[in-house]
Amino acid sequence: MQVAVFSAKPYDREFLTRAAGDSGIRWQWFPEQLRADTAKLAEGSVAVNCFVNDMLDEPAITALAGLGVKLLTLRCAGFNQVDLAAAKASGLPVVRVPDYSPHAVAEHTVGLMLTLARRLHKAFNRVREGNFSLEGLLGLDLHGRSVGVVGTGKIGRCVAEIMLGFGCRVIAHDITADPDLESRGVAYVSLDELVAESRVITLHCPLLPATHHLINAERIARMQPGVMLINTSRGGLVDTSAVIDGLKSGHIGHLGLDVYEEEAELFFDDKSGSVIQDDTFMRLLTFPNVVVTAHQAFFTRDALTAIASQTIRNLLLFRDGLPLEAVVTA
Ligand code: NAD
Repeated sequence: MQVAVFSAKPYDREFLTRAAGDSGIRWQWFPEQLRADTAKLAEGSVAVNCFVNDMLDEPAITALAGLGVKLLTLRCAGFNQVDLAAAKASGLPVVRVPDYSPHAVAEHTVGLMLTLARRLHKAFNRVREGNFSLEGLLGLDLHGRSVGVVGTGKIGRCVAEIMLGFGCRVIAHDITADPDLESRGVAYVSLDELVAESRVITLHCPLLPATHHLINAERIARMQPGVMLINTSRGGLVDTSAVIDGLKSGHIGHLGLDVYEEEAELFFDDKSGSVIQDDTFMRLLTFPNVVVTAHQAFFTRDALTAIASQTIRNLLLFRDGLPLEAVVTA
């Protein structure tokens, strides 16, 4: 069975090859992102394997189907990059890795909160330069503060549990409440209530048409002055221009991002030798109270092992004509 892997990095090769063992999968590694114009690289492959910034839109899916590709596999949990209606129309099942390590993403989320709350990003550079002054490093305790979790699925739930352990008051917003979290004192409120009551807001719902720019100028205006906003879910949840305005006015006190709405042009590649053209992104990097990581929340040894293992399972179930797991439907 030949599989075309798009956006392939050396670590994808290492973990997928190891997990595949002697299963007989023949890999075709492509560093290129999947687009309608790169889809032809999948010629001869039965399945493609894609990551978060591969664009499985209607033209790309039609091109893949025309080449004889029979299965679309994602080595990620999110599927906002897939036109599911187009996949269905082309008869191509879409499978993903829904549950690899919610802890990896949750722990990175909390890492961003602590970095910002204690200005660790400033302290790191300062101490290395022999500056041991504490001026400008005044932090805030998270204990006792209200943390608002938007989306309490696998990742949001882990974040809520960690923050309960920190002694925070955790409030949440989701389309369905988690009774276990409720029994542990997490109160579910409307999004507008959450936004108004939280000292820290952290986003863990999927990017859907209904959640696009969930955080916009109107909601930012309702937030507490000095609020900390964290997004490790998908960039499109946040209107970046509105957030920049909030940072400039001081209304947003801290911003931690692992995702960015235009990240497909930037993330996962070394751009240190080139002139970055995205002025909005570069403006974000000028704020002292902003920390951006480049979509690395998932990136642990444990998570990559689990992603590779479920990906191989998805491929082998298909090859062997068995019922598929982790199928994504509209
Ligand atoms: P999940 O499906 O387990 O949980 C998502 C939760 O969001 C569900 O409880 C769902 O009911 C809720 N939800 C849906 N629509 C909502 C809405 N309109 N308002 C509030 N809540 C809503 O998903 P998960 O595994 O917890 O992952 C969450 C997101 O994290 C994914 O969609 C993905 O985009 C992102 N993610 C990021 C990384 C990273 O490396 N940064 C890694 C994995 C996943």
